[in-house]
Formats: sequence, structure tokens, C-alpha cells
Amino acid sequence: MEALYLKDCYLKESEATVESVKDDTFVVLDRTIFYPNSGGQPHDTGKFVKDGEEFSVVYAGKFGDTISHEVSKPGLTLGDKIITLIDWDRRYLFMKYHTASHILAATIHTETGAQISGNQIGEDKTRVDFSLEDFDRELIQSYETKVNEIIDQKLPISINIMPRDEAFQIPSVVKLKDAFPPDIHEIRVISIPGVDQQACGGTHVANTGEIPHIEIFKAENKGKNNRRVYFRFRDE
Ligand SMILES: [Zn+2]
Repeated sequence: MEALYLKDCYLKESEATVESVKDDTFVVLDRTIFYPNSGGQPHDTGKFVKDGEEFSVVYAGKFGDTISHEVSKPGLTLGDKIITLIDWDRRYLFMKYHTASHILAATIHTETGAQISGNQIGEDKTRVDFSLEDFDRELIQSYETKVNEIIDQKLPISINIMPRDEAFQIPSVVKLKDAFPPDIHEIRVISIPGVDQQACGGTHVANTGEIPHIEIFKAENKGKNNRRVYFRFRDE
């Protein structure tokens, strides 16, 4: 199974062949543009079309190396040639939030040395968790300004799928070495020049200029060394 979104996050439509169907509901394809729920980024929704008949895709999940799509009704069978389409507005919003979370995480790390411990992207807000003992709300607000400056620089973002050894020569990537089992031979590195280089399997925009300005609207303590900030896009 080929995950097409790993190389091109802007694919909105693709042909595919059904490889398996379980319980009339869970469909595996030979190739997919659907991002599965993982890494803090919600799954795509959309539809499959077979000979003009539409099947809503309500969920996509990753099970081992396989991406399974949950459809709303029976009717698909092994070998079917279908057209797949994702709900682009939803996906594009997640791409913008996801990329903004890279920039915010990199900014917090650069300014404080804190390690990012998690993130969760949503439709109306996104949160980033990091481990930091001292917590200065004024400083947190200053990161908002720094992130918006990076957005305004309209920096190109690149995806490089590189051999493991090469990826681990990048200082910001080697820190995550333990998270990659030895059988992973290639690592997908997302680069924002001068800002961030991260191993990441999510979907990102091609240029920081596509992201709206952010607003950090909440910052809270979640235990001794756990800090959480929430941001959303400004209406402009
Ligand atoms: Zn990412």
C-alpha cells in the first residue's frame, strides 16, 4: 500500500484499487491520499466513487503498515477500481495548523531549550505540550509574534525522504532516534529553512505564507514540568 500524501500533500483526488474489504465497512486500497488519524493530526474524510456511486469515508486509521478507510455503506469489493477524494477544506486546515505547530514548537525550543512532548491539532484550535519548569506567560505571548514573523517571511517548506543514516546527521532529528525502530530504513524530514528540521509523517503546506497569523489564547500548567499552549488562527 502506497501512502501518496507522504510525497504530495496537495493531492485531492486519486484513482485506486480495492485490496480488501472487512465487514462491508473497512476498506484497504493499493494507494491512498487519505491521512490516517495519527501523530496528533486528525484523519481525513471524503468519499470513494465506483461507477458513479458514492461511498462516504468517515474515518481513516493506521494499523501496522496499513491504512484502513471506514465507509458508510456496503457495496465495495476486492478489485474494484475507484476514484478517491478527500474533503480538501478540512485537510488544508489541518495542514496549516500542523505546519504552524512545527513553527511554534521550534520557536519554543529555540527560546527555552524545552522539549516538545506532544501536540493535538483540531478544527478550531491546536495545542502544543512541552516540558519546561519556568513558565512565563509574557514570554509565551512573545512567541506568537515570532511565529507570525516566520509566517510573513513566506519560507518554502520541503519534504525529503532520506536514508536513516543521513537523517540522523541532522541534530534536531537524531534526538528522536530512539523513536525509530531499526527496521525503518528511510525517514521523512520536513525542513523549514532557518527554523526547523523534523522527522514527521504528517501533512504540511508548501510555504509558510499559506498559514494565517496565529493567536496564542491559552497557556496552562499540566503538572510539574508539563506546559501546554493553545493557539488558533486569527480572523483577518
Ligand atoms: Zn509535521
